[in-house]
Amino acid sequence: MVEKINVAVNGSYGRMGREVCRAILEEEGLELAGAFDLHGHGEDIGEVLGKQKLGILIQELNREVLAEGKTQVIVDFTTPMAVMNNIQLSLNCGIRPIVGTTGITQVDLKLINEWVEQAGLSAVIAPNFALGAVLMMKFASLAARYLNQAEIIELHHDQKIDAPSGTALKTAEMIAAGRGAEPRKRDELLKLPGARGATAENVHIHSVRLEGLIAHQEVLFGGLGQTLSIRHDSYDRKSFMPGVILAIKKITGFRGMVYGLENLLDL
Ligand code: NAP
Repeated sequence: MVEKINVAVNGSYGRMGREVCRAILEEEGLELAGAFDLHGHGEDIGEVLGKQKLGILIQELNREVLAEGKTQVIVDFTTPMAVMNNIQLSLNCGIRPIVGTTGITQVDLKLINEWVEQAGLSAVIAPNFALGAVLMMKFASLAARYLNQAEIIELHHDQKIDAPSGTALKTAEMIAAGRGAEPRKRDELLKLPGARGATAENVHIHSVRLEGLIAHQEVLFGGLGQTLSIRHDSYDRKSFMPGVILAIKKITGFRGMVYGLENLLDL
């Protein structure tokens, strides 16, 4: 019999965390081993999900709980303020982190990489777990080879804390890596600061926050007499779940830090 992978979820009381708990419970070969959050302490995660009791009570993540448990992998969908501590703690306890929380900087990534190497474990950091979004980023890096002017419009629900989105920043990096030539600089007269959005890797990024949205992004390329638009829309948080499950199933099979789900796919 194949052993199940024991997975805990941090941020399990939140929007993404609840969906991840549901997906783990529905997936053969995975076992929900723990539910952590700053809220809902003492509540049974089964009941929180509208199911029967599972005997797993939501509690705060701490070293003692992790040390005594059978958790092999921990999925983190918390906040940019909490995520670095969570990653360090799980690696110190010999547990592999899969991180969907956004707001992680390049400096943070270097640090995580060091922690992963020191622990001799693996970690997956993915700004976007939706397979369609990963393809959108990949197509954008391909398009950049021929059309070097690009702008990103990312649109998210109004509760999102960080801006621009992790996906937008990752897309800008991938465009820069795939670019044939740098776009030429033009003088601009900004009548309002920020009118052209933020800039990363010579790509303008515009962040929209509105009630009703989930997670959406359009990448616009310009060339001589033409534009190309590449758009992805997540209409439901379920869209992220196949990517999260894929990462859980792959993470015990390699060592080191993987940044971006595309690196776990055969693209
Ligand atoms: P959310 O509903 O606010 O859920 C986050 C939960 O984590 C909240 O209950 C929050 O409590 C809790 N939390 C905060 N700090 C914690 C800590 N130290 N330990 C344990 N729990 C803690 O947010 P969400 O919409 O689920 O999004 C979570 C994150 O995932 C965001 O960074 C978002 O950008 C990201 N995201 C990533 C993807 C992807 O594919 N990678 C997709 C969607 C969202 P408080 O309310 O007190 O903060």
